[in-house]
Amino acid sequence: MTLDATRAAGLARLADFVPRAGRAYAAERNLDRGPQDRTNVSALSPWVRHRLVTERDVVEAALQRHSLDAASKFVQEVYWRTYWKGWLELRPSVWTRYSAAVEPALAGLSVAQRASFDAAVTGRTGIEGFDDWARELVDIGYLHNHARMWFASIWIFTLRLPWQLGADFFMRHLLDGDPASNTLSWRWVAGLQTVGKTYLATAQNIEFATEGRFRPRGLATQAIALDDEVPLPTPLPAPQPEPPPAGRVALLLHEDDLHAESLAPALAVAGVDVVALASPTVPEPRSALADAVSPLVTAFTTRALADGRDRAGAQFALVPEAFDGSDALDALTASTVVPWLQAHNVTTLVTPYAPVGAVRDRLDRLTVELAAEGFAVSRLLRSWDAQAWPHATRGFFPFRERIPALLREQQIHSNQR
Ligand SMILES: Cc1cc2nc3c(=O)[nH]c(=O)nc-3n(C[C@H](O)[C@H](O)[C@H](O)COP(=O)(O)OP(=O)(O)OC[C@H]3O[C@@H](n4cnc5c(N)ncnc54)[C@H](O)[C@@H]3O)c2cc1C
Repeated sequence: MTLDATRAAGLARLADFVPRAGRAYAAERNLDRGPQDRTNVSALSPWVRHRLVTERDVVEAALQRHSLDAASKFVQEVYWRTYWKGWLELRPSVWTRYSAAVEPALAGLSVAQRASFDAAVTGRTGIEGFDDWARELVDIGYLHNHARMWFASIWIFTLRLPWQLGADFFMRHLLDGDPASNTLSWRWVAGLQTVGKTYLATAQNIEFATEGRFRPRGLATQAIALDDEVPLPTPLPAPQPEPPPAGRVALLLHEDDLHAESLAPALAVAGVDVVALASPTVPEPRSALADAVSPLVTAFTTRALADGRDRAGAQFALVPEAFDGSDALDALTASTVVPWLQAHNVTTLVTPYAPVGAVRDRLDRLTVELAAEGFAVSRLLRSWDAQAWPHATRGFFPFRERIPALLREQQIHSNQR
């Protein structure tokens, strides 16, 4: 399965799925029928990951076809992504600690653990299902939500491997690999997220939800929560939207938000004149083990960047430019960006807000470098995030209660009964 990393392809998939986003989704979404049949879930996550298709696009389409009551489960799942993004945004140290732990965790494996790790990532543990999911992940770059939960649970509690290495394996291979959803879901399975609450994969549940495809033997029979050593951080204040300064600006796109068209109205209202447009051509490394990132992920993200650039070029009637490099770390530095800003005679760089993750880390460094040379960076926070993230202070269930109000604030309604 080769997926096309374009907004057009994502919207086509959304249109195909929307009739099934109502009660059918609620009834069947937990079944993993295998890679040949993904009709019971949307499989939209690779497009949503890059905002080739936005959360708003997805929810709006679902509610045009179904009542909020009928599509509530689907809408909630989309808001899980928003919740995780907000949760990490308020607690960035959780990302920093995870990122810093990957290489030491690999270096610290015993000989036996290293053999177990190698078997796990190549699908040779002998555990039915688990090995199939490892190969599916590497071959396709996607796993059903339940396969992700079972895989993570078996990794942590049966194979007893460090959770950070499992999360990193996912980040290197998932087309939708996302700093918030991935890191926090692994932490949730491990009992670090909802402190003390773990997820135990059982052979019965796997057999039921895979409709008899797998019934693994020898799984752990208990899941004792891991110890995080440090308490959960106190949430920081949520970021506030700041209108961009009026006048001439250059727009820098990045892989975390590739739908510049929907940012254009806010720019116009603020009196912003976009006179130059660019993005890197190459993705940000998703892992400290950058050389081991899947070529599927690199190809998907590279194509997504080109698609986002081209559409933005059409939107702003500009010829899009691109920053090249062996990777985005080479491409996005003051030494490449400053001459571009000077060539267009602008002193302000505008960029979509990048949530906590590798792209954000890069933009933070670039912002410091540019400030030293007299250039300002303005980050455009979408109202979708600005309205929802402040509510990610506690668990998902209080957040979920806010969804009807959040939809009203977004002026998304359903006329269906
Ligand atoms: C261990 C583990 C790791 C995960 N890593 C990622 C990741 O790196 N990136 C990622 O996008 N999701 C991740 N998820 C969440 C979830 O598995 C995927 O978002 C979902 O399977 C994508 O398939 P879909 O598009 O068919 O989802 P659907 O069921 O069709 O849901 C629609 C959309 O809602 C969002 N969504 C659905 N479920 C979740 C969820 N539980 N958490 C967050 N967002 C959700 C996705 O954007 C998805 O495209 C992870 C889950 C687990 C248990």
